[in-house]
Formats: sequence, structure tokens, C-alpha cells
Amino acid sequence: MALERTFSIIKPDAVAKNAIGAIYNRFESAGLRIVASKMLHLSREKAEGFYAEHKERPFFGALVDFMTSGPVMVQVLEGENAVVKNRQIMGATNPAEADAGTLRSDYAESIDENAVHGSDAPESAAREIAYFFSDEEICPRTR
Ligand code: GDP
Ligand code: MG
Repeated sequence: MALERTFSIIKPDAVAKNAIGAIYNRFESAGLRIVASKMLHLSREKAEGFYAEHKERPFFGALVDFMTSGPVMVQVLEGENAVVKNRQIMGATNPAEADAGTLRSDYAESIDENAVHGSDAPESAAREIAYFFSDEEICPRTR
């Protein structure tokens, strides 16, 4: 299978728990490579644009409040079947329903504050990567 890329966010709750390194270890241990990475404190405008598909949902305001409450890490993960693999590493949206050993089971407190984001399809991955990274910021491995 060809290499695939996906987009990931370590959300403010997990950054506040000092879990960046532990979460990066999960990605790398599963065979995903971090090919771009940076820390950001999202503006409301940037967070609203990122979650535009949810803007009519009742939780949209709370979601934007949360995502702008502290810094996040954004990263591009590369590997075989990266989109699905990352969603498996993350676990279900609601941590109460997430399988044991997944990031959301281990690091999330609630559906509102659920530790990580991951693209849900190759098409959304491409859009989300371009929303945060220029081509020059992405560093495919040469060795
Ligand atoms: P994801 O792809 O697993 O992150 O889930 P969705 O794309 O469906 O939702 C995006 C984000 O909105 C989730 O990660 C949650 O942070 C939040 N969210 C989704 N559904 C709910 C909900 O029913 N209530 C609340 N408070 N937040 C939600
Ligand atoms: Mg989603």
C-alpha cells in the first residue's frame, strides 16, 4: 500500500497534561512518522475555520472555547494507511466509548475535551494539512 498522510492535533487538554511526548511515542510506535510539527495557540478565527463543518452544532461555541483555551501541537503523520491507523490509535470521539489503550481512553476526560484530533478521510487530511502547513514545512524522510 502507498504511503498516506494524515493531520493530527494534540488538543489543549493533553498539552496541559504534559503528554506531548507520550502521544508522539504512540504515533511512532505504531509506525507513523512525524513529517511536520509545530506548537500554536489558535485564534478563534482559525479554530472556527478548522471546525466549519460543525458550525450549526449546539456544541460549536464550547468546542471553539476549548480549542483556543491553550496551546496545541499540530502535526502531519505519514505511513501506510495513516488516516485509519491514526483513528485507531485515537479511539472513539467519546472517551467513555474508546477502547482501552487508545489515546482518548488514556488521556481524555470527556467528549468536550478529548485530547486529540485526527482526519477522518484522505480528502479531509489533505484539506486540513493545507490549512496549517505550507509545502516547505513538510519534510518527507530521505533516509
Ligand atoms: P472526531 O472526528 O472524533 O474528533 O469527532 P467529530 O468530528 O464528530 O467532532 C469534532 C469534535 O467536536 C470532537 O472531537 C469533540 O471535541 C467535539 N464534539 C463532537 N460531538 C460532540 C458532542 O456531542 N458534544 C460535545 N460537547 N462535543 C462534541
Ligand atoms: Mg472529525
